[in-house]
Amino acid sequence: MESKNKRFFLPENEIPEHWYNIQADMINKPLPPLHPGTKQPLKPEDLYPIFAEELANQELNVTDLWIEIPDEVRELYKNYRSTPLVRAYGLEKALDTPAHIYFKNESVSPVGSHKINSALPQAYFCNKQGITNITTETGAGQWGTAMSYAAKAFGLELAVYMVKISYEQKPYRRSVMQTFGAQVTPSPSMSTKAGRKILTEDPNYQGSLGTAISEAIELAMNTPNCKYTLGSVLSHVSLHQTVIGLEAEKQMEMAGEYPDIIIGCFGGGSNFGGISFPFMRHVIAGEKKTRFIAAEPASCPKLTRGAFQYDFGDEAGYTPLIPMFTLGHNFAPANIHAGGLRYHGAGIIVSQLLKDGLMEAVDIRQIESFDAGLLFAQTEGIIPAPESNHAIAAAINEAKKCTETGEKKVILFNLSGHGLIDMSAYDIYIAGDLVNYNLTDEDIAKNISELEKILQ
Ligand SMILES: *Cc1c(COP(=O)(O)O)cnc(C)c1O
Repeated sequence: MESKNKRFFLPENEIPEHWYNIQADMINKPLPPLHPGTKQPLKPEDLYPIFAEELANQELNVTDLWIEIPDEVRELYKNYRSTPLVRAYGLEKALDTPAHIYFKNESVSPVGSHKINSALPQAYFCNKQGITNITTETGAGQWGTAMSYAAKAFGLELAVYMVKISYEQKPYRRSVMQTFGAQVTPSPSMSTKAGRKILTEDPNYQGSLGTAISEAIELAMNTPNCKYTLGSVLSHVSLHQTVIGLEAEKQMEMAGEYPDIIIGCFGGGSNFGGISFPFMRHVIAGEKKTRFIAAEPASCPKLTRGAFQYDFGDEAGYTPLIPMFTLGHNFAPANIHAGGLRYHGAGIIVSQLLKDGLMEAVDIRQIESFDAGLLFAQTEGIIPAPESNHAIAAAINEAKKCTETGEKKVILFNLSGHGLIDMSAYDIYIAGDLVNYNLTDEDIAKNISELEKILQ
């Protein structure tokens, strides 16, 4: 079957020269992160013990709209960017929808997800500062994988704390990180104070991103010439991910359309911000009316059911206090297969944008996410990451509304990664054994009520 319509849009040699810093455009600036000891607004120097200086400066930069991408990073971006923008004709047909559905395919990166877009600059800025060792955490293993490759590319030694449940559910992701030369430890572990404390209290604790972050920060602080790196949540991570949206903007132009709705799955907000922020600048400027939808798992619903509060980014309370939508840093999310979305809080920028009504959020149940992933796989030939399935489910829901109303909306979603190392999750779904998790209001209220003590 031959189609006249073009379906694949790929600009040549047009990798952006700058990242887009939405903080400079925001009318209501995000509240400042606070020093955990003094409770005073954070200065970049406060972050220098943990992060490379350049990354700390980017984190708190609310004035420069455009931040130059170093040549060394652009060179490595060229190994896989631009990524394709694809019109999902197969999916449209299966849904019998008048909507036009496009996806930006970040799954084609060497490591299989968008995470590498920030791993490369983070490794670059550490190396540039003379750092030799870095630590990080990983949930499903996507960030750890990206960081392992990026560390190797810039000659850094990397130690990864991998959430224990994922370490056991996704053994190949561990193999991949080790193949790139990283050291991988399941978290919680006995190698840190934070890990020992939690294991003593609950020897069977399956781990969470919050705990793994505590362990990685602790190791970085106790190791000479070592910094910590984080794959989501922070503003500098979303900044790096704006290459996705900046490219997509040009590609939509090639397609001759403009998105009415932009969707990303949501863990801490980096791939959602990456595809959304460059388009959102036109909404802030009053030129466009695009809707932005973050799709989070129903079992970890910080945007749809969390509270806007100052909270820690990690379990042990080592990070600055961050103004964010949160379920509380002690929240232990259910063991869903979208490990990259099992995080208790949302980034500072997206939290403010949600508060200001510039974006929306929906929650997707686990089985619905896999229903969507399977339909996408069968119609487009790509097996999506369990995380990405949430974006696909939200896109399908919007397309179905168009089927009902006859509206021809243009929907763009980010395919944040492929699921080829997550096939055990698909096996469970296909066998009919996948479950939804119910989260009661009491479960949520319990952790959030403790947050009030933090600022006192
Ligand atoms: C980590 C990850 C996510 C979630 O993280 P964000 O920072 O919210 O983007 C989503 N999709 C994939 C494939 C991931 O690896």
